[in-house]
Amino acid sequence: MSQYRTFTAADAVEYARAFGGVEDPAALVEAQEIGDGNLNLVFKIFDRQGHSRVIVKQALPYVRCVGESWPLTLDRARLEAQTLVEHYKYCPQHTVKVTHYDETLAVMVMEDLSSHRIWRGELVKGAYYPQAAAQLGEYLAQTLFHTSDFVLHPHKKKAEVARFINPEMCEITEDLFFNDPYTDHERNSYPAALEPLVASLRDDEALRVAVAGLKHRFFAHAEALLHGDIHSGSIFVADNSLKAIDAEFGYFGPIGFDVGTALGNLLINYCGLPGLLAPREAAEGRERRLNDVREVWNTFAARFLALAQEKTADVALAYPGYAQAFLRKVWADTIGYCGTELIRRTVGMSHVADMKLIKDEAMRTECIRSCITLGRTLILAADHVEDAEALLARIRQAG
Ligand code: ADP
Ligand code: MG
Ligand code: MG
Ligand code: MG
Repeated sequence: MSQYRTFTAADAVEYARAFGGVEDPAALVEAQEIGDGNLNLVFKIFDRQGHSRVIVKQALPYVRCVGESWPLTLDRARLEAQTLVEHYKYCPQHTVKVTHYDETLAVMVMEDLSSHRIWRGELVKGAYYPQAAAQLGEYLAQTLFHTSDFVLHPHKKKAEVARFINPEMCEITEDLFFNDPYTDHERNSYPAALEPLVASLRDDEALRVAVAGLKHRFFAHAEALLHGDIHSGSIFVADNSLKAIDAEFGYFGPIGFDVGTALGNLLINYCGLPGLLAPREAAEGRERRLNDVREVWNTFAARFLALAQEKTADVALAYPGYAQAFLRKVWADTIGYCGTELIRRTVGMSHVADMKLIKDEAMRTECIRSCITLGRTLILAADHVEDAEALLARIRQAG
């Protein structure tokens, strides 16, 4: 058993030669650390011709963007690798392929997706991938259905919940999504001009009760093996291709959390576009985002329902009409969690390029304001939105 140590570029090359699964390991000669995320080291491994061949990702024993003062479990590398392996079983076309991992070193090797681009980067430029929304809906339906009680034997399900116990990563979500933005916390950051709006979140009783309910269900509802962090920065896209990466927050939780996070990031982009693009392109981009929101949900729901009709193993859950009734609850959760994502990305600590890249300060403040306001609207309306069309109507109404 090897001991944990933080990899240098040379270590990453050596590791990729041993475990990269390439036919010509000696050809691997160079590594570049390309991690732009908040948490981990990511090495791209190149051959002599300068082609990148595999990716080596290693967890650090602390939060990268904060430093050693915020320690964090290395077990997240196992959880990420095992979540991606599990999701790959059910949706290989939309999940990055992990070929090897090592618990002690907190390292995994995965396929190189350099032919793709991170979706968030494309969204902020106004680049459009017409298939991406349906593909994301498909990914969510396949991975969440196949890891749910609709198909897993009850004994297997309980064992899987135990295997994917992820208390430290869940705690980050519990704090950053459901606590910080609704309290006066030092991790929060937002434009000073928005202090009255943010203070009004803290004082909004109906909102606080709804957020408590969302947090409670995040604690308690082990519905399926979630990705746990499925924002547009965890998604690679290319022409007619979409791949999910970065599943270190994977655990058994409420299905609406994943779907809501995905929709939330489309709506953050919707709110940011007026500050990112010229008016005409921004308007066109916003219409596309609304169509994307509709497409993600409708594809997810139709697919989930079809899978339930075809594959439900449990006799009670197979009763006609039950899957549809369940999806109605998932829909309400989706809208609520979507709202919390809008607020935690603007009021809380984890800001995103869709807002950060807006150069004009007054414009940025207005985009952030609209995002927070929409988040609140969605959390409060979550139980009363009929379908995707009604959701789009509410979003347009919110401004
Ligand atoms: P973190 O957990 O630290 O957020 P990510 O898994 O999101 O790390 O990876 C950080 C960055 O590394 C990604 O935004 C992407 O640019 C790059 N990256 C990650 N995985 C791959 C991959 N399989 N192929 C190519 N680049 C990758
Ligand atoms: Mg990431
Ligand atoms: Mg991250
Ligand atoms: Mg990550």
